[in-house]
Amino acid sequence: MSDNGKIPFLDLVTPHLALEEELLLIFRSALRTAVFVGGEMVDEFEQEFARFCGVQYCVGVGSGTDALRFALIAAGVQPGNTVITVPNTFIATTEAISQAGAVPDFVEIDERTYNMDASKLHEYLETRCYIQEATGKLLNRATGRPVTAVVPVHLYGQMANMDRILDVAEQHKLVVIEDACQAHGAEYFSGQQNRWKGAGSIGRAAAFSFYPGKNLGACGEAGAVTTNDPLLSEKVRMLRDHGQRQKYQHEVEGYNGRLDGIQAGILRTKLHYLVDWNRKRREKARNYNELLSSEVDVVTVPCEPSWARAVYHLYVIRVQNRDQLQAHLAQANIASQIHYPTPLHLQKAYTGLGYKRGDFPVSEKTASEILSLPMYPSLELDQQERIVQKVCEFVSVQSASRWHPSLQPASLS
Ligand SMILES: *Cc1c(COP(=O)(O)O)cnc(C)c1O
Repeated sequence: MSDNGKIPFLDLVTPHLALEEELLLIFRSALRTAVFVGGEMVDEFEQEFARFCGVQYCVGVGSGTDALRFALIAAGVQPGNTVITVPNTFIATTEAISQAGAVPDFVEIDERTYNMDASKLHEYLETRCYIQEATGKLLNRATGRPVTAVVPVHLYGQMANMDRILDVAEQHKLVVIEDACQAHGAEYFSGQQNRWKGAGSIGRAAAFSFYPGKNLGACGEAGAVTTNDPLLSEKVRMLRDHGQRQKYQHEVEGYNGRLDGIQAGILRTKLHYLVDWNRKRREKARNYNELLSSEVDVVTVPCEPSWARAVYHLYVIRVQNRDQLQAHLAQANIASQIHYPTPLHLQKAYTGLGYKRGDFPVSEKTASEILSLPMYPSLELDQQERIVQKVCEFVSVQSASRWHPSLQPASLS
C-alpha cells in the first residue's frame, strides 16, 4: 500500500471477490429452479439466522425498514399511538414508526454510548405522561396520544442498555422493539438473567437490515424480523405477503415486503463468515483504541461497557473541530463519514413535531463532534496507522494553535 493510496470508508469489493464462486452457485441454483421470491433458500436462511441470534423465529423481509414497520404493527402498535426512540439514529427508524401509523417521539441519548439513556426514558414516561383512569392507558399529556412502544437502537453495533430499558418499559407496559439494523452478532450481558444475549433476542421483536454495507449485507436490499413470539412471527409472515397465509385468502391488508430467494441464499452463505468478520472488526477497533490512546484527552474513542460486546458496524470517534479533521483526512486520501450530522428532531421532515435546537443537547453536541473512521474486516494495520497518524497530526496542531492562534489547521496542508 503506497503512502497516499486512497483508504476508502468501506470496502465491499474484497469480500465479494473472495466469495465469488460460492455466490455464483447461489445465483445458478436460483436460475435453475426459478424460485426467486420466498422458497427453500429463504426458509433455510431464516432458520440459520434465528439460531445465530438465539431466537425461535426469524422472518425474512424486503428491508430493515420493512422489518421495523412489520414488527411494530404485529406487536400491536395502533394508528395514532406514540412510539419513542432516539434522535441519534438513521431516519428509517422513525419512518417505520410513521408508516405503522404511529407518531415518533424522542428521548435523549447517553453521552458515552450514544444510545438511548434509560433514565431519560423513565423521566419522559413519569413527567410527560399520565395514566388515564377510565382506560388505564398511558397518555402523553401534551398530545393526548397513547404511548405504546419504545424502539432502542443498537447504533454503530453498540448495545443499548437493555436491562434498564426493559425495566422501564415493563413498568409502563410498553412494547420493546429493538432496532438491531447495525448490530448483527452484538451481545449484551443481562444481569437479570445472568447471561449474554444476542442483539435481536432481547425485546419483544427486533429488526435487522441486510443493506449491502451492514455487517451482514445482501447483494441488494433485504431485512428480517426476529422474535420468540410465535403469533408475532405469524403476523409478520402475513404482513410481508399481502396479508395472506394461503394464496388469495387475505386476512388483513398487508404489503409487498418479501425476501428474494437469491438474497436469502447469499445471506446464508455470508452468515457462515459473520463471526469471523465481526471478530476482525473488534480487532480493528482495538487497534484504533491503542493507536489513539496517547490522544485520549482530545479524541474520545468508542465506549464499550462491561455489559456489552460491540460488533463495530462503525468506529466513531469524537473531536473538537470535527469538520476540519474530516477535511484534513480527505486531503490525505482518507475517507470518513458522519453518522449522523443532523439529529432527527432537527430534520426538515420532522418540523411538524415542533422540536427546536436545544431540546436534545447531548444528541446535538455529539452530532457536531462525531466522525466515523474507515472500518471493515479487510482494513489493514498499516492503513489504520496512517489514519491515526493523520488524526494525531491534526489534534496536535489544534492544541498548539490554542497557544499560537496564527497556527491554524489550514497550515497543515
Ligand atoms: C440501515 C438501518 C435501517 C434501515 O434498513 P434498510 O434495510 O436500509 O431499510 C434502520 N435503522 C438503522 C439504525 C439502520 O442503520
